[in-house]
Amino acid sequence: MDTNGVQTDSAWVPSSWRQKPAKQEVIYDDQESLKRTITKLNSLPPLVTPFEIQKLKNELRECALGNAFLLQGGDCAELFDYCNQNTIEAKVKLLLQMSLVLIYGARKKVVRVARMAGQYAKPRSSPMEKVNGVEMASFRGDILNSYEPDIKARIPDPARLLEAYYHSASTLNYLRAAIDSGLADLHAPLDWSLGHVLDKSVRNDYQQMVFRIIDTLDMMRTIGLDTGGNLETVNLFTSHEGLLLEYEQSLTRQLRQPKNTPQAPEKTSTKASSLNGIGAANKSGYARKNSMSNNAPAVTSYYNTSAHFLWIGDRTRQLTHAHVEYFRGIANPIGVKLGPSMPAEDIVPLLDILNPTHEIGKIVLITRYGAGKIADHLPAHIRAVQNSPHNGTVVWQCDPMHGNGRNATVKKTDSEGETLTFKTRRFSDILSELQQCLAIHKALNSYLGGMHLELTGEDVTECVGGGQELTEDDLNLNYTTFCDPRLNEKQALELAFLVAGFYRE
Ligand code: PEP
Ligand code: MN
Repeated sequence: MDTNGVQTDSAWVPSSWRQKPAKQEVIYDDQESLKRTITKLNSLPPLVTPFEIQKLKNELRECALGNAFLLQGGDCAELFDYCNQNTIEAKVKLLLQMSLVLIYGARKKVVRVARMAGQYAKPRSSPMEKVNGVEMASFRGDILNSYEPDIKARIPDPARLLEAYYHSASTLNYLRAAIDSGLADLHAPLDWSLGHVLDKSVRNDYQQMVFRIIDTLDMMRTIGLDTGGNLETVNLFTSHEGLLLEYEQSLTRQLRQPKNTPQAPEKTSTKASSLNGIGAANKSGYARKNSMSNNAPAVTSYYNTSAHFLWIGDRTRQLTHAHVEYFRGIANPIGVKLGPSMPAEDIVPLLDILNPTHEIGKIVLITRYGAGKIADHLPAHIRAVQNSPHNGTVVWQCDPMHGNGRNATVKKTDSEGETLTFKTRRFSDILSELQQCLAIHKALNSYLGGMHLELTGEDVTECVGGGQELTEDDLNLNYTTFCDPRLNEKQALELAFLVAGFYRE
């Protein structure tokens, strides 16, 4: 026990979280079915490899050191239905486009992490909700229950754990194949569609930056700088909230650590040399593993093989509880959400548990206070880390979404006096939290190393504002999220432009 009453010395095994209290607990009625499902999951292959995980860790190290920027984004609640070609492609293209803007604007390498291929479990503020006047359990994500407004469909079903694995595997398979086949090929013309920006001066700024990006890509092509294949593919990593520990434990495997820091694979062909993303890490990882077996004794670690990166949510980060216990044992890089309820004095004890060796880039602190609260909390949180042995080891990432939720009540167009209530977020609040976050880090000599967004490549109407000037009355046009409101493609791209601009100031 340390002075905070936190158990820090006991041996860790993938199941030790079961001895601790847990928030957002899940009770399965059908224990037999749960057992069968877990046995099956235990036997299924890893979805990602230690080599890939280590590669991300190396890249996050650069974010912690101020040399790179972490762009993380995707749905709030990924649905099994989103496992289709168009939805996957739209999201990947959007993340790629945003990253280009950030690279160009901020002059930093960008690390791309998708909230995708496993973002199926949702923490909820209330276990119950009323739908059409009927009280039922809240939707907790496709991995747990169904969004169908039906009392029975809302009962947690163990079979969904397996469905989650297969949908993750399918999504990941297509991601790997599409990226390997040139989905992210920067030689292909990108659709920058700027017509939506109503404000003339903003549109002009956009247009200028797009011209310059296209021009730079053209020039690289002309003088042959792109012939190494580096424009043909990109790195993309996957992530989700590690909420449902039954599932996370079942994919936690004791595996060999990659021997060295992964380097770009040896040049066997032009195509292979360009593969340093999701697909390439796989190939070279196997080569490395085989060569390792010849010389060095194997060093193993526990890896969560369901995603490259996992994070602990704002509701489950209690020092003495199950989630922190589970996370302290895995070798993946991990995130922790920090909201206004996080006492500054708890941050260092939390980091001591999760990163006792002060590994640089291991921990991403994802701050999400809200535009009106960030100034009250972030400075003390930064100083707590700065005055500790963890100074310089963490990646600070701004999540400008989760502190800025609000309800909008909108009149129904087709009926007299009836109203609909939507959860929404204002683009201006999102931008304001990002802007303040950057300024506070700068003033304290700290580095804001990334942003964490809820977004989709679809043309949804869930957040208000932005260059399209979506209003609350527009929310009903295409509001499709089953959890929090996401930035649509245009709003997300616009945000990337504006943030890139802040870094240039
Ligand atoms: C989320 O990222 O969707 C989420 C629930 O965030 P938080 O834990 O910060 O509330
Ligand atoms: Mn969310």
